[in-house]
Amino acid sequence: MSSLPVFDYVNATSPAEAMGQLGAGWSEAALYAGGVDLLDLMKERLYEPKKLVNIKTAPSLKYIKVENGEVRIGPLVTLAEIAAHPELQKSHPALARAAGKAATPQIRNLATIGGNLCQRPRCWYFRSEDFPCMRKGGEKCFAKEGENRYHAIFTEGEPCVIVHPSAAGVALVAFGAQLKIASSSGERTVDIEKFFVRPKDNVRRENVLGPKDLITEIVIPASAAGMASAYIKIREKQSYDWPLADVAVVAKLSGANVEACRIVLGSAAPVPHRATEAEEFLKGKPLNEENAARAGELAVKDASPLEQNAYKVPLFKTVVRRTLLALKETKAS
Ligand SMILES: Cc1cc2nc3c(=O)[nH]c(=O)nc-3n(C[C@H](O)[C@H](O)[C@H](O)COP(=O)(O)OP(=O)(O)OC[C@H]3O[C@@H](n4cnc5c(N)ncnc54)[C@H](O)[C@@H]3O)c2cc1C
Repeated sequence: MSSLPVFDYVNATSPAEAMGQLGAGWSEAALYAGGVDLLDLMKERLYEPKKLVNIKTAPSLKYIKVENGEVRIGPLVTLAEIAAHPELQKSHPALARAAGKAATPQIRNLATIGGNLCQRPRCWYFRSEDFPCMRKGGEKCFAKEGENRYHAIFTEGEPCVIVHPSAAGVALVAFGAQLKIASSSGERTVDIEKFFVRPKDNVRRENVLGPKDLITEIVIPASAAGMASAYIKIREKQSYDWPLADVAVVAKLSGANVEACRIVLGSAAPVPHRATEAEEFLKGKPLNEENAARAGELAVKDASPLEQNAYKVPLFKTVVRRTLLALKETKAS
């Protein structure tokens, strides 16, 4: 295993103190939460910030509050804490399940939801220092014509074909969450769908954060309260693995009918992918086997898979269908 490059280390006790330690460029300083992804990138010499700003010493960033149907989560809450939260398990099962299915128990105990949303892609060309890919400032996406069985199937117009890695991100897009982001110039609120960035808009970054930004809160609006939700992840190895396909669905059910829903595919595109045509199709229709299967077909209608990952198209059809049908068992209480 590689050793870490030399860096300065600061314990920040508040968000303000953390922001004060950040610099104008990514190479100056990095926020250090669970460290699962950050230290990996540093050991691989893919990222060498001069300073790590530990935010685990800022207790005000760690809480889960559920009030009047609105859920507010501090970025330092771990995936394990979200998965085990009794209220979220009942009210927002897709989020609790997505968090509980990610990685391994040891990693979930360390990994924070803020870091999970900001982790860098797992593309093996990006992760290897031997491949100067576009995301690292090179000229080429090696996955397009290389080993691409785990890559995107929604690739139209994209210069790079990574898949979005965050399980929590997939569920939070389905819930229409918002992120509060603080920087030295104040705080802004960003819809999570606008937080993630497509390669065609910026091939070097996966989200809108700048080097001086800090996610201070994740908010699931009260409008999502009482919705049914489900999350299913398909992986090759059952002990732990990244998803081949994962799907989160959040729906407003009226008796047997779907009044409205959001269907989000993970591991399908460089950002969590909304299946909007399938969502529209289901509006006002009964949630049955036939309609769920049709929604599955519509969800992958515009896919343009790569040479080695066409298997994901029928896989997603099935996972969308199964996740929709699972809503019946996971209605929020
Ligand atoms: C073997 C393995 C399997 C995995 N499987 C899965 C999986 O199935 N699903 C899945 O979703 N993930 C998976 N992961 C990834 C893992 O969940 C993430 O690496 C982890 O969630 C990152 O969280 P962290 O707190 O450790 O972040 P860190 O590594 O500390 O930070 C990651 C990035 O986020 C930035 N950051 C952290 N907090 C904030 C904040 N509040 N505001 C702004 N920026 C911030 C950091 O500066 C850094 O750039 C896996 C990882 C491994 C090693």
